[in-house]
Amino acid sequence: MKKFHMIIDLEKCVGCFNCMLACKDEHVGNKWLPYTEEQQKHEDKWICPTMIERGEAPYTEVTYVTRLCQHCDNAPCAKKYPDVFVKRSDGVMLIDYRKAKNKDLVDACPYGMVSWNDELGCAQKCTGCSHLIDDGWKEPRCVQTCPLRALQTVYCEDHEWEKIVEKQGLKPITDGSNKPRVMYKNLYYYNKCFVKGALCFDQNGIEEAAIDAKVELLVGGICVAQTQSDFLGEFYIDRIPKNSGKMQIRATYGDFEPLVADFEIKTKSVVLDALKFGGGTGKPAVILPNEHANEQALTHMIPKDAEAARKAFAHKK
Ligand code: SF4
Ligand code: SF4
Ligand code: SF4
Repeated sequence: MKKFHMIIDLEKCVGCFNCMLACKDEHVGNKWLPYTEEQQKHEDKWICPTMIERGEAPYTEVTYVTRLCQHCDNAPCAKKYPDVFVKRSDGVMLIDYRKAKNKDLVDACPYGMVSWNDELGCAQKCTGCSHLIDDGWKEPRCVQTCPLRALQTVYCEDHEWEKIVEKQGLKPITDGSNKPRVMYKNLYYYNKCFVKGALCFDQNGIEEAAIDAKVELLVGGICVAQTQSDFLGEFYIDRIPKNSGKMQIRATYGDFEPLVADFEIKTKSVVLDALKFGGGTGKPAVILPNEHANEQALTHMIPKDAEAARKAFAHKK
């Protein structure tokens, strides 16, 4: 049987809140029984983007993480209240509106996805817009309204979904034990760290950008990822697991002596002070036309001789 699944892509979401407004438009002032009572005008947000900031001045990145009920297959809410939280055959979790007048139901979801409707005195949450889907709609209102297609519903067999999850690298926002039907793409914007820095050298008293310098990320002296500085001399390595500990950036450029910078990844991304090449013969690298490398392609290119470190690093990821 084709079942409900949802993909939320952090790379596409811009935090426009259209999804939340569409949900309100569909459910405020509209009673869709037996699916759900109407949503209250204020407070309740069955779907909501939250802003996440990574980095620090002068370089920060903003991402929006949109959350809604994950329609878990191993749902803590249903374990606690099996007669109230009811799974449909298409995988959508509903609250039985006739048994929802209990404020304790709000705490049954450890992910904060059940809200309390003060006006009607009942617990509520996302219904997957089942009233529309049962009426022939192809997707819920929030998905239909998202201007960037950051939300996508996939109605397919569960074994087909497993292949999609693997192919697209989808991740749960939880530890996965709840078996969510809502999965995230590019979740590293939310749960991984980056290191960012800039490289320069002195030329006749003027600081010039060190373009196309080789930049390596070292763990225990072994390279686990590498990239090149861009036309501003800046470099950026992402998807570093939180709490990776002490690391180094080693930068090499032309005939200058290599630069090494120590830093530590705890729970936040790191923006290094500008690094200036000085020692050696002082000759900058020769940059040929079209030689500038694709940073994306090079990021995480891992040398074969660092296989052990690569495995350890990949395991942590
Ligand atoms: S409508 Fe789409 S882009 Fe806008 S906040 Fe919601 S998920 Fe993000
Ligand atoms: S996200 Fe919360 S409310 Fe939704 S199914 Fe999972 S445990 Fe239940
Ligand atoms: S699927 Fe429907 S009920 Fe759920 S958040 Fe989207 S619009 Fe709201």
